[in-house]
Amino acid sequence: MEESKKKAVMIGIIVVCLGVAGVIIFGTGSGGGGSLDDIPDDEMTWVKCLNKSCNAEYEMSRKEYFKFVTANANPMAPSAPALTCEKCDEPSVYVAEKCQNAACGIVFRSGAVPNDFPDRCPTCKQSATEEIRNARKREMAGG
Ligand SMILES: [Zn+2]
Ligand SMILES: [Zn+2]
Repeated sequence: MEESKKKAVMIGIIVVCLGVAGVIIFGTGSGGGGSLDDIPDDEMTWVKCLNKSCNAEYEMSRKEYFKFVTANANPMAPSAPALTCEKCDEPSVYVAEKCQNAACGIVFRSGAVPNDFPDRCPTCKQSATEEIRNARKREMAGG
């Protein structure tokens, strides 16, 4: 009986943690708040060209990326505007994630797996966000 009570408390803590994390992600992710100047100049973000005949993947300054998005965002469009590819010159570059799985390491468009973490890898199905959360859960469970 004692054991199941402990489990209930644990689940409660996890749910609260996930909720807080969600608020932080969505609070900072969807425009408003925070200034571009808060982003360090040397912070990089991966981007990927979705042009089938190009498929370029490269890193660019996170600050530059958000500057572009802020300046070019279309309030009528549901997604971020495309950047011009530095390789093929087409407006087909979107923010991407690099898979943290050393055995995989591909670069893929953020949110490639619908209704999941934006950094869920479509190839090996690993998500760095989920890994971090699982590690915390294991810590809380006491090893
Ligand atoms: Zn390209
Ligand atoms: Zn992967």
